[in-house]
Amino acid sequence: MIHKFKQLGYNIVLDSDSNGVHVVDDCAFDMLDIINAPMDENPPKELFQKLGRYSEETVRETYGELLGLYKEGSLFAADEYEKYSNTMVKSPVKSMCLNVAHDCNLRCEYCFAQTGDFGGERLLMPPEIGKKAIDFLIEKSADRQNIELDFFGGEPLMAWDTVVETVNYARSIEKQHGKNFRFTITTNGVLLDDEKIDYINREMSNVVLSLDGRREVTDRIRKTLNGKSVYDVIVPKFQKLVERRGDKDYYVRATFTKYNLDFTDDVLHLRDLGFEQLSAEPVVTDENEPYALTKVDLPRIFEEYDRLCEVMANRTGKKFNFFHFMVDLDQGPCAIKRLRGCGCGNDYVAVDPHGNIFPCHQFVGIDEWKMGNLNDGTFNDEIKTYFAKTHLYSKQGCSGCWAKFYCSGGCNANSFIYEGDCRKPHELSCELQRKRLECALALAVDKAVKNGG
Ligand code: SF4
Ligand code: SF4
Ligand code: SF4
Repeated sequence: MIHKFKQLGYNIVLDSDSNGVHVVDDCAFDMLDIINAPMDENPPKELFQKLGRYSEETVRETYGELLGLYKEGSLFAADEYEKYSNTMVKSPVKSMCLNVAHDCNLRCEYCFAQTGDFGGERLLMPPEIGKKAIDFLIEKSADRQNIELDFFGGEPLMAWDTVVETVNYARSIEKQHGKNFRFTITTNGVLLDDEKIDYINREMSNVVLSLDGRREVTDRIRKTLNGKSVYDVIVPKFQKLVERRGDKDYYVRATFTKYNLDFTDDVLHLRDLGFEQLSAEPVVTDENEPYALTKVDLPRIFEEYDRLCEVMANRTGKKFNFFHFMVDLDQGPCAIKRLRGCGCGNDYVAVDPHGNIFPCHQFVGIDEWKMGNLNDGTFNDEIKTYFAKTHLYSKQGCSGCWAKFYCSGGCNANSFIYEGDCRKPHELSCELQRKRLECALALAVDKAVKNGG
């Protein structure tokens, strides 16, 4: 299946099934509206008439070039993955989101965790549960050596003792079990101090810093309990953390809403604050919320992605990465990841402060998706099997979508929460995903062209 589009002045053709990305001239771009596989050795006669605005020689040459791509398998390629989709099996659990705090010191309007408590009581995880989570991961990761654990919430810094005890426990036993724990923490930054910054920079392989951009954008939706500006509190702390972090991974995670459809300005603001690793996620929420993004907003959001894409292609001065626009043309993800994406409920789980296990952080608190509990050692194999078999070819419409191997079927949680079915893609998210992917591919092409590729 091919997808063709114009971005950054290039005519780009993606052949989804071979992952071939081609920059073509106008004649080839137009010709691809007409021809399809299987391609004959000679151009079909009607081609000359339909492409009468080009000379016969140009049409003939262009057809020959496309035929070359077809023969080498990078145009109109067949889907080689579908036949393996029935063999998708369960994987060891290799990553976990540990919700150490079902409480938060902020009251963000768009919080998917219902301002931290996930719709239940406000609660911090006792260290014993954190240690049990480590034992669970060691056991369930089978022969996987590298294990990822993300301290999450609510606000994980509110359960700092549990964070430290869990890390210490993991470090004390990882070698004897042949494991290597990589920790991440996702924080709103309010409770950061020098001691925590140094600890995080030493122990955490990655840090996710939540900040939406400009002061007025951040403060409008990320609210403190006492009505003060959260921006003024956290920006200096994040800057200090990043300055001291050296070359270890981090990123600033912004969320954009209907209130800041000009989110390029927020991305650039974050860059001007000195942050280089940036993301801006579209809020996904009930469309009746005043800040919700809806279909009506799509043209404006697309326009804004175009603007950000232009800025990134022509950028001078401070460098920065925007995660949603990063794609590797040469090495896509491995086959399993291409088909199944995030691994939720299969190789990835989330644990709440009671020790309850859920398929991922967005399923936390939804009883029907509870997979078990660390205290009684239960772990529901049926749910795990269900997610192992939830992939591109079991989701409605994904196998016919040109973005399939980059998107991997989207977010199961959004599908369940907003479409009522993990296997029914959330349409608005699909539209955004496809637009971002066009920008990402165009930027990768632009980089290759500028580098002489
Ligand atoms: S900081 Fe995070 S957990 Fe806390 S209210 Fe805001 S979005 Fe929710
Ligand atoms: S989730 Fe949407 S964008 Fe992703 S592959 Fe499926 S249909 Fe395409
Ligand atoms: S289901 Fe969605 S929220 Fe959950 S891990 Fe996957 S992508 Fe993330």
